[in-house]
Amino acid sequence: MKYYSSKTIFYIIFVALFFTACENDNADNDKDKMLVPQENTKVRIPKFDGNAAKEFIAKQVSFGPRVPNSEGHKKCKDWLVSQFKSFGAEVIEQNFTATTYNNLKLNATNIIARYNPNVKERIILGAHWDTRPFADKDPDPLRQSDPILGADDAGSGVGVLLEIAKLLQKNPIPMGVDIVLFDAEDYGDDGGDNAESWGLGSQYWGKNPHLKRENALYGILLDMVGAKDAKFYKEGYSISNAGPLTNKIWKLAESMKKDDFFIDEPGGIITDDHYFVMKNFRMPMTDIISMPAENFGFGSYHHTHADNMDVIDVKTLEAVGQVITAVIYKQSNKEFLKENEY
Ligand SMILES: [Zn+2]
Repeated sequence: MKYYSSKTIFYIIFVALFFTACENDNADNDKDKMLVPQENTKVRIPKFDGNAAKEFIAKQVSFGPRVPNSEGHKKCKDWLVSQFKSFGAEVIEQNFTATTYNNLKLNATNIIARYNPNVKERIILGAHWDTRPFADKDPDPLRQSDPILGADDAGSGVGVLLEIAKLLQKNPIPMGVDIVLFDAEDYGDDGGDNAESWGLGSQYWGKNPHLKRENALYGILLDMVGAKDAKFYKEGYSISNAGPLTNKIWKLAESMKKDDFFIDEPGGIITDDHYFVMKNFRMPMTDIISMPAENFGFGSYHHTHADNMDVIDVKTLEAVGQVITAVIYKQSNKEFLKENEY
């Protein structure tokens, strides 16, 4: 993902204008079935294991770079699918062909892991599982054309979501949860002003969603959520198009004493998968993404070969994982956002 510059305002208005528009009528198999949570009981929130999330990142990194059309990509996909199945999810492999800005054809797959697939009311948790095909910001010019390991970008988001999948299996909830791992996010043109060159998987999913819009409450995207000294400011599109959700998550983080990580202030504006989901599927989605550098820049390892396991810190994973786990369990028990509040 990258910062978006000159077209920012235009896109904010564009997304806002289309936000409340018509329902998506793609069919799905949801039955009119809703389990009712207990009223007026504070829900028990399971403990998120940061060490386990770190292991899930290490496993992804062990496949090497996960660039579409590569061997590491295919092996990692098979592993992710089998992991989610072993954690009791119903898994959809959404295959598609993506065309990159430089006209390459990518065999790509969005991996969708569903919990309580027949329940109508659902939240979406996202991350991208591909890694950048080049290290275009690496200080060594001789290595800039080599693909990166992407431990934080975005093995971290996937690692957190795998651990959450495990928690959902062990501690079932009545609400529906769909974990969507987007492919081909990071093949974008960093030199150009072409936002649409990024997030090819989320663009495809947004136009070909696996569920009806009316059944999706909101989404949370995790991107670069595992590095030491991460700082999560409230991202620009998340504020403009998912404001109530964004504010509520940051307030919850504060109440959980995670405000060293979740800084309750506006940060940069970033073209990430949530932008394409909001634009095409019109569902509010917050991006939790680290912007620790000056002027909300990304970490110094971003899109370099330093994005390896050395940058990963269990404390950061635990902060993000515990806050998102709390959101899920509270929402499931109607202790978070109320209908029409998001
Ligand atoms: Zn990236």
